[in-house]
Amino acid sequence: MKIKIIGSGFAGLSSALYLSRNPSNFITIYDKFNRVQSVGAGILIQPSSMEVLRKLNLYDDLLKRGEKIYNLVGINHGDRQVFLTSYNDYATQCFGVGIHRSTLFQLLYDQCKTKANIEFKLEREITSLEDQSLFSDLLIVANGSHSCLREQIPIKQSYRLYPYGCLWTTIEEEYTVPNTLYQYLKYSREMLGMLPSGVDDHGKRIISVFWSLPVTSRNTYTKEEILKDMKFHLRHQKPELIEKLSQANYSFAVYADVYMKKYDHKNIVFIGDAAHGMSPQLGQGANMALLDSYFLNKVLTESDNNVELALPKYTSIRSPHIKFYGQASKFLTPLYQSDQQLYGRFRDIFFSIAKYMQFSRNISSQILCGKKTSWIRNKEIEY
Ligand SMILES: Cc1cc2nc3c(=O)[nH]c(=O)nc-3n(C[C@H](O)[C@H](O)[C@H](O)COP(=O)(O)OP(=O)(O)OC[C@H]3O[C@@H](n4cnc5c(N)ncnc54)[C@H](O)[C@@H]3O)c2cc1C
Repeated sequence: MKIKIIGSGFAGLSSALYLSRNPSNFITIYDKFNRVQSVGAGILIQPSSMEVLRKLNLYDDLLKRGEKIYNLVGINHGDRQVFLTSYNDYATQCFGVGIHRSTLFQLLYDQCKTKANIEFKLEREITSLEDQSLFSDLLIVANGSHSCLREQIPIKQSYRLYPYGCLWTTIEEEYTVPNTLYQYLKYSREMLGMLPSGVDDHGKRIISVFWSLPVTSRNTYTKEEILKDMKFHLRHQKPELIEKLSQANYSFAVYADVYMKKYDHKNIVFIGDAAHGMSPQLGQGANMALLDSYFLNKVLTESDNNVELALPKYTSIRSPHIKFYGQASKFLTPLYQSDQQLYGRFRDIFFSIAKYMQFSRNISSQILCGKKTSWIRNKEIEY
């Protein structure tokens, strides 16, 4: 089968790897950039997609290059611990893994290069699904949340930019508490996230730093203002940390909420952020992209590459999980990123009480692990 993939992000690369297992498949990946790359800071890989990486024989590398994360801790500006979400509440010895985006990306790309039935066509920005070069048995659209290709197909959909984005950077840092993702909060206007992200190419421990910022301030903020606020949140940390943050270069990321009623149309399927972009607050986007690739390959294999049968099945298998996390992301993001002080106050009170209740700790950890498919039923994704 001739397969074309638009976009060489996590969704595109992992799909290519899974589909290349069938020697009768020939896969072409298009990307607008002239080299395959992933720009950004660290990401948190959840138990939900570790299984997907394990099946690609990348699990050991993930552990080697990433840092295990056991707890997520939120501390507010009054030094109060607002939340503590522990993977241990989901299952004993359960953990997430913080890893630099480009490290995971390189692992996927290096494996793609070893496959004879995967080819890359770079510097090829696809702007139309009618493009003659896309003629194929299966077309996979994986070009991220800001895809201009979505609106070219007649599927009910929506795309909305979040009012807040974030500045991000990565620093080498030996001293911050290991195995824990910290979020420092002031209402919902200020949030500083610090995610241990494994080791860099020189074996040095790295931390990804995220600073929440309204999109309207992206061209007007000054580094001095931000450092002053960061310094306040990190007042109990070593001064060297502030020094590193003041020397770092920051980039800005915007994110969008993407909804599609279904993901397939004829022989075209949308996966990854192109199908279901969401705020990174829940740390699920890359995980969802990896899961998409696994399930797409599963339905194709089970239907003996019958695209007409497989793609609607793909939509029905993926929908509950994607819709659950889309809703959760829409509900939770304003509690962390919004101009409404009230949301932050509500979050601090509600979560401070909830963290003492085993029932709510179980639900929070289950959501975090990335496997939940319903608000009511206790049903998880099945591999
Ligand atoms: C600040 C931040 C923190 C995050 N943290 C986490 C986290 O902790 N955990 C997590 O799971 N997720 C996280 N995410 C989300 C995660 O990064 C995304 O969900 C994931 O990268 C989506 O992968 P993708 O392959 O679908 O799309 P992308 O990674 O966006 O890849 C799309 C590819 O398509 C190419 N492309 C775009 N348009 C075209 C075109 N017209 N023609 C050809 N090529 C094109 C691009 O060059 C790119 O290579 C975070 C996101 C942000 C912004």
